[in-house]
Amino acid sequence: MQPTKTTCPYCGVGCGVIASRNADREITVAGDPDHPANFGKLCSKGSALAETLSLDDRLLFPTINGERTDWNDATARIATTFKDTIAKYGPDSVAFYVSGQLLTEDYYVANKLMKGFIGSGNIDTNSRLCMASSVAGHKRTFGADVVPCNYEDLELADLVVLTGSNFAWCHPVLFQRLMAAKEQRGTKIIVIDPRKTATAEFADLHLAINAGSDVALFNGLLHYLDNSGKTDLNYTGQHTRGLAEALAGAEQSDCAEITGLAQSQIDEFFELFSNTERTLSIWSQGVNQSSAGTDKVNAIINCHLLTGRIGKPGMGPFSITGQPNAMGGREVGGLANMLAAHMAIENPAHRELVQRFWSAPTIANKPGLKAVDMFDAVADGRIKAIWIMATNPAVTMPNSNFIRTALKACPFVVVSEAVNNSDTAKLAHVLLPAATWGEKDGTVTNSERRISRQRPFMEKPGEAHTDWQIICNVAKAMGFSGFDFTSPAEIFNEHAALTTFENQGSRAIDLSSLLDADYDALEPFQWAKPRMFAHGGFFTLSGRANFIATPYRSPLAKVTEEFPLSLNTGRIRDQWHTMTRTGKSARLMAHLGEPFVDLHPQDAKRLAIKSATLVCLRSSLGKVIIRAKITVSQQVGSVFVPMHWSRMNSNSANSLALLDANVDAVSGQPELKFGRVSAAAFPVNWYGFAISTHKPKIENLAYWAEARIAQGYKYELADTHEPENWSEFAKQFFSTDNIHSYIDKRSGIYRFAVFKDTLLTASLFVAQEPVALSRNWLADQLGKPVGLKILAGCGGAAVVDHGPIVCACNNIGKYTIADAIANGADSLKAVGAATKAGNSCGSCRADIKSMLSIKLLQAAE
Ligand code: SF4
Repeated sequence: MQPTKTTCPYCGVGCGVIASRNADREITVAGDPDHPANFGKLCSKGSALAETLSLDDRLLFPTINGERTDWNDATARIATTFKDTIAKYGPDSVAFYVSGQLLTEDYYVANKLMKGFIGSGNIDTNSRLCMASSVAGHKRTFGADVVPCNYEDLELADLVVLTGSNFAWCHPVLFQRLMAAKEQRGTKIIVIDPRKTATAEFADLHLAINAGSDVALFNGLLHYLDNSGKTDLNYTGQHTRGLAEALAGAEQSDCAEITGLAQSQIDEFFELFSNTERTLSIWSQGVNQSSAGTDKVNAIINCHLLTGRIGKPGMGPFSITGQPNAMGGREVGGLANMLAAHMAIENPAHRELVQRFWSAPTIANKPGLKAVDMFDAVADGRIKAIWIMATNPAVTMPNSNFIRTALKACPFVVVSEAVNNSDTAKLAHVLLPAATWGEKDGTVTNSERRISRQRPFMEKPGEAHTDWQIICNVAKAMGFSGFDFTSPAEIFNEHAALTTFENQGSRAIDLSSLLDADYDALEPFQWAKPRMFAHGGFFTLSGRANFIATPYRSPLAKVTEEFPLSLNTGRIRDQWHTMTRTGKSARLMAHLGEPFVDLHPQDAKRLAIKSATLVCLRSSLGKVIIRAKITVSQQVGSVFVPMHWSRMNSNSANSLALLDANVDAVSGQPELKFGRVSAAAFPVNWYGFAISTHKPKIENLAYWAEARIAQGYKYELADTHEPENWSEFAKQFFSTDNIHSYIDKRSGIYRFAVFKDTLLTASLFVAQEPVALSRNWLADQLGKPVGLKILAGCGGAAVVDHGPIVCACNNIGKYTIADAIANGADSLKAVGAATKAGNSCGSCRADIKSMLSIKLLQAAE
């Protein structure tokens, strides 16, 4: 196979990837040295892409009500049901819920079908959960959804302010670019985040603000800049309006009290920002996923407008998107309140233009329902047919148990999916096998407005189809013309033509230079100028940027006596969304392989929660049971839980089920960074750890969490009742009579092993306390002729336990790194030289730095 240049399907950095097939016909991936996003680098997730391509769990043929069918039947069923529902209840009785995982071409035809042919605005996307507040903030200020910066600004800035962004874990390749710049030019870094994240380890100043108080901090900064004579009068005079109102709206009594910061920290931040011309402000989900998300975005942008620091090298307000194609979706109008090509659904002239361009029979004349409202409408019966594409709302929406109930009650649910076992796929009446990364052909747009190709390098398995084909076939079956595309290139060309259609500079996106381009050969292309608005040119009616008044509002959820802890949810370094892809890589699962809650030692002590025991977190909406991780990186009174785990891989860890669906009034984006919960120790009778080449019987246990290992699966287990007969339990658990056991009833230790011939096929370790055993060591024994010594729980003197994996690229464990540090490695470079850890993608450098800091602290004691 010729190497194929494509784009990583995970985060909004949009790294170029080269996929090749080696002499053993195995796919390998490497960073594309020519791609301007990553110049050959990949993070741990990108590096492990080849490990996620197996066909297990793949959905290979369409089903209707769980029965196999063919594409003709499935397409006809969808078309007929949607048509009948529309005829009976009107166009707003149906909806599409799509995804930033879709390619631009998929998004384009889905939006065209819903808004131009069905005639409803009811197409929204999981990007609503990701960056809708940034879209709304851009539109309020700039008049268009335009990111004014580009990645090179990371290398040109003297100060980078990261707000609500765990850059080191969530956008690792950009973080490495920033680290390189810091090393070369001493870039100062400020991290604004309630948690001491991996990113904060590298900050010159970490501002651990109270959750949700960002607006107050930036309002304070706005006044400070104005009072210190930093207002760029030329810029504000010529290119902006509303400064006086914004300053009035930013009046507040006490920044320190609201943010919880020491005045000296606030002063240091304000002075640094004020005195550094080349300041780049980066933000991500911590800003967007908030009931004041749009105000947070505007409060940051206000400070850049006031100082005229926008659109010039190394400075500007820069929203970094979470998803691989959130930006592409925005460009084609994939949100319920957009039209297409940056046109506004509320604008009659835009509606007429788009309808005419599409030769469409109708056009949506009002915004559709945004994600939270859309599922409310599913629940109360206003929406009677919904088509969900490439996303898993039964896990990722706030109050996700409500979403499950709503979908169960919905008369007609269609799900297009690559896997057969996602929580949402299980709720589908019609389940459609969609092609996925490596099989699909199209384009994506990254956070700096750069369009890149995703190219196929594998055959589509079974009967999988690409999303654009599926959508077009349904549209044609519904009797609509305008969907006779034969390739994604044709769709892209129509999209490019719409961006240019009667544009004449009135809209930011204009892809005229890509019209009739050689699609197959398309190089990464950044639309518009590399930087925007240095000399005005805004897309508002006045042509000026709008300052926005952003009075501080606290988060909508309030902690109470019953629910006294604030809940923050987010991502971890080596997982992506609901783990349907990254969960397949044993290497990635070796980093943090079990759902957990971070809580402060003081809270843990007060609640009598011990490290590594189980915790029940409860809100008014539900509960989860997860492992306690006690850490000073968490503030007292707040907890953090990752959002990745679902019913696919744990019985009770869907953290978003705990959150109320509080939304930002402007953007409709839900507040996923602030809920309220209680925490209590979850008492169990026993803890267990198991490995197995096949899935054991875990269903009836009070707690289980599953993760892939190289030869099978590993399980963390616990239950509230002790089996009457442990040997019988083990036999039923592994579905075999051929069990070898070690039983010590007095100390409550039970160990079991199963062999096929001489090879270990399963093992279970049980104890009254959390099982103290190297998971990676035991996992390594699976499939090997280890003999009964496995029941001793150690590998003997010849086996080295490397500990939990820190460096996923080079498979270097925590104990190996700790040894190197103990033996004198006192810097990242020295640890890298001694162990290779941190020498590849660099995603683990923050973890290593944290270990080095602990060592330094210990030395100082
Ligand atoms: Fe993929 Fe990592 Fe690059 Fe994001 S930073 S696009 S996850 S390789």
